[in-house]
Amino acid sequence: MVHGPCGALNPLSPCMADGKCTKRYPRPLVAETVTGNDGYPVYRRRSKEDNGRTIKVKVQNQEIEIGNEFIVPYCPLLSRIFETHANVESCHSAKSIKYLCKYVSTNEALWRLLSFQIHERYPTVVHLAVHLENGQRVYFTEANAAQRAERPPSTTLTSFFAMCEADPFAATLMYVEMPKYYTWNQSTKKFQRRKQGTPVPDWPQVFSTDALGRMYTVHPRNDECFICDCYDIALALASSGIAATLLDGGRTAHSALKLPLNLNTIDTPTCNISRSSAMGKLLMQCKLIVWDECTMAHKKSLEALNFTLKDLRRNNNIFGGLMILLAGDFRQTLPVVPVERLQMN
Ligand SMILES: [Zn+2]
Repeated sequence: MVHGPCGALNPLSPCMADGKCTKRYPRPLVAETVTGNDGYPVYRRRSKEDNGRTIKVKVQNQEIEIGNEFIVPYCPLLSRIFETHANVESCHSAKSIKYLCKYVSTNEALWRLLSFQIHERYPTVVHLAVHLENGQRVYFTEANAAQRAERPPSTTLTSFFAMCEADPFAATLMYVEMPKYYTWNQSTKKFQRRKQGTPVPDWPQVFSTDALGRMYTVHPRNDECFICDCYDIALALASSGIAATLLDGGRTAHSALKLPLNLNTIDTPTCNISRSSAMGKLLMQCKLIVWDECTMAHKKSLEALNFTLKDLRRNNNIFGGLMILLAGDFRQTLPVVPVERLQMN
């Protein structure tokens, strides 16, 4: 690529400022590439005497001959591969290292070169805020603090509630379904119906896409966010203490259910829980018990829970009709071998 021409040949070139080319053309003709004072190399530019080629270009309807002093640095190999001109600078000083990352970052380059399908950002995932009333995160400065407190910007959640009142279609949706039919306008902080997509039967002007809504993680300790309007209780249990600490609010099955320690010596073990105790009341009202690592639990501890729930809930169905979610991986069962005496030597 030929720069300009500019300088004395064409003082009106757009690169000219104060009578000089801002891109430092025409460059000196040198026989060998040398590193310049500023870290950028001074490339070899052959003069006519050094077998350098010249071409004729038209500047303001005048044909002039120019040489290598106006050629923008390039790499013949890259130009050949990509069949285009590419600005190329030899990068051998920290000063010119910006060329490494400025135009194409390494990860973007890899993403383009490999073009794995899995690297596509598809489908669209919209993060949905979860917070209590007046519990959303608000950014403010000293100047707008009062105004922000008065009228905090709406979040996807507050906007969803507003849409449910104003838009009859939105009222039929769950929160996570919103991005499927609505776009979130970040500047106006409002949901807008999608204008493209698959038309939704019976709802003119409503289009669906495969966009997904994902709620921000809510820490289980933030239990108000879970139990705002529902009084359903779920009980999280785990067989081992380690798994119980991973389940927030979780307890070991032995501790929560007051299971006897000598399970295998009792014929029909029961949980030591009375109807009037707090745990008894909880088990009566509870809608779900999640028992993680149930594969580590003794068969009789499940039998004890079954028996106790039937009794507490006065319901003869299995587990007193309560839904039990058993989770666990048999491959992670510890090989506990009951031994009556230690093997010596
Ligand atoms: Zn110039």
